[in-house]
Amino acid sequence: MSGTVGTAARSVTVRVPAKVNAQLAVGAARPDGFHDLANVFLAVGLYDEVTATPADELTVTCSGPDAAQVPLDTTNLAARAALALAERHGIAPGVHLHIDKDIPVAGGMAGGSADGAAALLACDTLWGTRATREELLGICAELGSDVPFSLVGGAALGVGRGEQLTPVEVGGTFHWVFAVADGGLSTPAVYGEFDRLTAGTDVPAPAASQALLDALRSGDSGALAVALSNDLQAAALSLRPSLAGTLAAGTGAGALAALVSGSGPTTAFLVADEGAARKVADALLGSGTCRNARIAVSPAPGATVL
Ligand code: ATP
Repeated sequence: MSGTVGTAARSVTVRVPAKVNAQLAVGAARPDGFHDLANVFLAVGLYDEVTATPADELTVTCSGPDAAQVPLDTTNLAARAALALAERHGIAPGVHLHIDKDIPVAGGMAGGSADGAAALLACDTLWGTRATREELLGICAELGSDVPFSLVGGAALGVGRGEQLTPVEVGGTFHWVFAVADGGLSTPAVYGEFDRLTAGTDVPAPAASQALLDALRSGDSGALAVALSNDLQAAALSLRPSLAGTLAAGTGAGALAALVSGSGPTTAFLVADEGAARKVADALLGSGTCRNARIAVSPAPGATVL
């Protein structure tokens, strides 16, 4: 815990990772509009930090290169997490939440979800509400499909809407480069495009790839490169055709595999080691096909009180 406990200066800071989907298998749209998923999440070492400080009322501020794109009202997932915890425990949500944002916004890396999980853990610690892990995970699932994974980190298979998690074993360190695109892509819009592209076709029920789980367990990046998949990639490319140039720039520079991260428009490049990561990142930056290139390793721990 940072700050001084027991005085008005008391504060709690939680660090939380971004994610990449090593597999995102998407089923047909359900009657409720959601899609059944088989979603293999990997937490990657790009982090936001959320600091909760006592205040008269709920307020949110944000710093970092993408801060201007982050809503500061009660649509912010961090604010919603604080409100949900306060309501459950019958207490006033008197807290200031500051988000130090390093995860690309609207990039398919679950930045908002990460902040929701971080704020929940920070407020639980600050307020002494002592929620059980199950209760925290339940609130996370109500906030959004990707939020429970942000709390647990590491690697996990998510089924249902992606929120029913089973841990996945990872036997080594994987190296990634992420190309950050100009502007975001709306997750609902990408699912809508998926529905449009698959209309009239027989969409198979989503299932985790055994080859992918084996590659993660063995820590074999060559095997993982072959097994990575994202059923939303065609939809993201359809809405943002320029992403094909970004993917080509990374593979041309020696990436083992390239794919759209989640709903995009961030693209993810699996590379052999740190040296290859630097080479691919330089090539991506030089290609003019992205706004920024970030290097990170996985797996990374979930939301952690600092
Ligand atoms: P996912 O991978 O879970 O689909 P994403 O990484 O594509 O999400 P986010 O960074 O979570 O996208 O942002 C999506 C939208 O959510 C933003 O455009 C913003 O309006 C809203 N949002 C709400 N809370 C936050 C937050 N704390 N940080 C960033 N965006 C937030």
